[in-house]
Amino acid sequence: MGFREERIAENEAVVREINEMILQAHESAPDISFMHIVCECGYEECGSIIALTKDEYERIRNDPRQFCVIEEHVIQDVEAIVEDNDRFAIVAKRQGAPAEIAIRTDPRARPLLPPISASNPNTTARAALSSSRSISSY
Ligand SMILES: [Zn+2]
Repeated sequence: MGFREERIAENEAVVREINEMILQAHESAPDISFMHIVCECGYEECGSIIALTKDEYERIRNDPRQFCVIEEHVIQDVEAIVEDNDRFAIVAKRQGAPAEIAIRTDPRARPLLPPISASNPNTTARAALSSSRSISSY
């Protein structure tokens, strides 16, 4: 992955954190009321403000790969437009590095995501321990 792509992804992750704080400030407002978020594009110098409802915002945040940007700021080689209207565009990070970083930096990452499997190091260590105990009992 190029330096540029990484830079874009990091910038977007930071802006998303800011917008999550803005949402928290609107926590008690009704879902249909407008909030003003920062454009989540990859341009560092961007300070564009987007008006959207809490409902719309929640719909975007539902998928960690999705970001809300003004249409002029869509960076076609790292993201694809999912939906757009006269206020903003919803973009989804493309497969590969852009999507991976978006998922890794998701402020809403669910603790369930890494599946608990038999390859869990703790389970393996415990199994090794119990087998060594049975050997020593001989
Ligand atoms: Zn922007």
